[in-house]
Amino acid sequence: MGHLVAAPRACAVVDLDAVRESTATLVARAGSAATMAVVKADGYGHGMVPCARAALEAGASWLGVAVLEEALALRAAGITAPVLAWLTAPGEPLPDAVAADVDLSASAEWALDEIAAAARAAGRPARVHLKADTGLGRAGAAAGDWPALCDAAAAHQAEGLLDVVGVWSHFAFADAPGHPTVQGQIGRFREAVDIAEKAGLRPQVRHLANSAATLVSPEAHFDLVRPGISVYGLSPGPDVGRSAELGLRPAMRLSARVALAKRVPPGQGVSYAHRHVTAAETTLALVPLGYADGVPRSATNLGEVLLAGRRRRIAGTVCMDQFVVDVGDDPVSAGDEVVLFGPGDDGEPTADDWAAALGTINYEIVTRIGSRVPRVHLNG
Ligand SMILES: *Cc1c(COP(=O)(O)O)cnc(C)c1O
Repeated sequence: MGHLVAAPRACAVVDLDAVRESTATLVARAGSAATMAVVKADGYGHGMVPCARAALEAGASWLGVAVLEEALALRAAGITAPVLAWLTAPGEPLPDAVAADVDLSASAEWALDEIAAAARAAGRPARVHLKADTGLGRAGAAAGDWPALCDAAAAHQAEGLLDVVGVWSHFAFADAPGHPTVQGQIGRFREAVDIAEKAGLRPQVRHLANSAATLVSPEAHFDLVRPGISVYGLSPGPDVGRSAELGLRPAMRLSARVALAKRVPPGQGVSYAHRHVTAAETTLALVPLGYADGVPRSATNLGEVLLAGRRRRIAGTVCMDQFVVDVGDDPVSAGDEVVLFGPGDDGEPTADDWAAALGTINYEIVTRIGSRVPRVHLNG
């Protein structure tokens, strides 16, 4: 009978109430600054559109994404809030962005020229955020190029092609509270804003703060904050604090159902290259999730799951579609639930635990969950 009931092989359940609660915490921390919920990379793997809606319901008033396709997908879903897409390469269909009222970022004059041409093609001014590199050494205009970028933007604006709505930058060490570069970048950002104003620009929003700075560096809030990972209830880093201490609730719970349980003798090698060998007669449980689903192969003999009431380590190599858990003599059968990570309330590992065990960050753990794993949204 149980075998006739439709139940997923695996799923990532995303509690949108947790997204709302965490967003509300961020909105409160932001004080008088507005909140841009960052929903790039499919909402950090949580499902972009449902999470965007939940964040807007909880008080966020902007959305941020990396690439143009993400912004256009938000518009196609009927979302009308301001959206900033900050990462485009030369030759992308910017007129589509302008027509869809998507804000674009420019770190260089050639990018401004492309945006101005797109505005001409779309027959309306483009909304632009000028990006300054205040020390991250990634996107943004270098300090020496910034005045010319502001002058070029002012010239396009005078022609009616651009509306410079924002000046912005991004931190290198916001997750290391008290790091000297944080104050240094805030100072250089203020200088960049002054230069923009001297060029005649009057940006409505100056923005610099990611999750970590939103939570712990109020002097970095300016007019708008851009939290991402924390919208999904995860801490931006161990030095910033744990989710619960920060008023965040992890939204995702990744689980699967045991696909096969079998008794094997001692000395049985398990999975490719036999990186685990059974010590005694034991039960092996097969879990139908693998590296194609986002379980890192580096979790071989390392990652932990909750199964039959206990935390247990992955036994042997993580394969493309599956891995094995050695459960000893504990009663486990096909169909039993295996929790890879969740908020941690029921003893399951958290995304933070996985990140610590594998030497990475929780961002990578949740973002890499593959498209074969259905996202099930609760409280939509
Ligand atoms: C991803 C990203 C954010 C959000 O960062 P979190 O650490 O997830 O809060 C903000 N701004 C930019 C430019 C980003 O790339």
